[in-house]
Amino acid sequence: MFTDRIGRIAPSATLAMTAKAAELRSKGLDVINLSVGEPDFPTPANICAAAKSAIDKGETRYTPGGGTLEIKKAAAIKMSRDNNLKFFPEEILISCGGKHSLYNACQVLFQSGDEVIIFSPYWVSFPDFVSVTGAKPIFVKTNPNQQFEPDFNELKEKISKKTKGIIINSPSNPTGGVWSNASVLEVLNIAKSINAWVFSDECYEQLTYDSPYISTATLMDNYDKILTFQSCSKTYAMTGWRIGYTAGDKNVIKAMGKLQGQSTSCPNSIAQAAAIEALTGDQTEVKVMRREFKKRRDYIVNRLNNINNIKCPNPGGAFYVFPDFSAYMNITGKIKSSDDLSMYLLEKKSVVTVSGDAFGGSGHIRFSYAASKDDLRRAMDFVEETLNEI
Ligand code: PLP
Repeated sequence: MFTDRIGRIAPSATLAMTAKAAELRSKGLDVINLSVGEPDFPTPANICAAAKSAIDKGETRYTPGGGTLEIKKAAAIKMSRDNNLKFFPEEILISCGGKHSLYNACQVLFQSGDEVIIFSPYWVSFPDFVSVTGAKPIFVKTNPNQQFEPDFNELKEKISKKTKGIIINSPSNPTGGVWSNASVLEVLNIAKSINAWVFSDECYEQLTYDSPYISTATLMDNYDKILTFQSCSKTYAMTGWRIGYTAGDKNVIKAMGKLQGQSTSCPNSIAQAAAIEALTGDQTEVKVMRREFKKRRDYIVNRLNNINNIKCPNPGGAFYVFPDFSAYMNITGKIKSSDDLSMYLLEKKSVVTVSGDAFGGSGHIRFSYAASKDDLRRAMDFVEETLNEI
């Protein structure tokens, strides 16, 4: 009944765990949800006020398909201020979240016969975005001891004439890894040598804890096949508002706009007005959230590394840790995989996590620390308890 296209993709594992957490909560269980991919802070008040004002002013109609000129200018101001990137409005597309931008770009640039390099562990959606176009995702492993930077030998082996794109996601979901400038530059040099597109998914760019974030495109200003993807979701605690954007080559932006215009018409008009305030208004809350996330990162990494035989790399950004539990697998036969461990935590302890298997990181579990300190403490107690039981 269904097309080949739909058969090539799987449901999002992270959204599935969020649904599972909601189901357990509705049954009255005291659930600790560490599966979430969103800040646990409310959207800052100035942003909400801008949305209310947009409603009062009647900004409730269709906007241009790729976003209003005002929000494109706001995104340009933001990228110039925070990332030292200079773009004109015609080089920017506003979408219904960064996810939509990434999806559109894959649709516009990749097709059957193409290969796209994805670094593993990867965000769950990347392989599906690529597969649905008919192109083939090619996975390249990374080094957990070095912020999950690429294994360059494998990368060099796996690139070919068919390689049409390379997707970088630093800070990364699920690992939190932040690559050094040298590693990003090495990937750019490889991409340039084969004339491939580089997607830089920078949706966690404001969440780095040990060094300031450097945007990929600033590292090679003479290569025009770099597309920068950013989002209001994580930076401004605006996941439900659905505003993200792409900046880069104006012909690609135009093609993406064409596709978007024929699918969603335009991003939500009220959310666009709110996002203008987010991008150009007071940035204090961004710093407050970053400080709080850093404290939580330090706490959870320390707790995990204090458990026997657990290795938890200290991630430089995002709000995830990706510890390795493989030492606990196949001890008694109860837990054979990350899927089993994640399910055990869910069913026996009501702690919701996402199995590393979903991200191509078997043996690992992804914990989000976008949760209260108390929840993190209780969850870590339960993890310790679980590991004693299995
Ligand atoms: N890229 C990565 C790596 C993500 O983790 C997410 C969300 O979880 C997105 C992109 C998309 O976010 P949004 O569509 O909310 O902007």
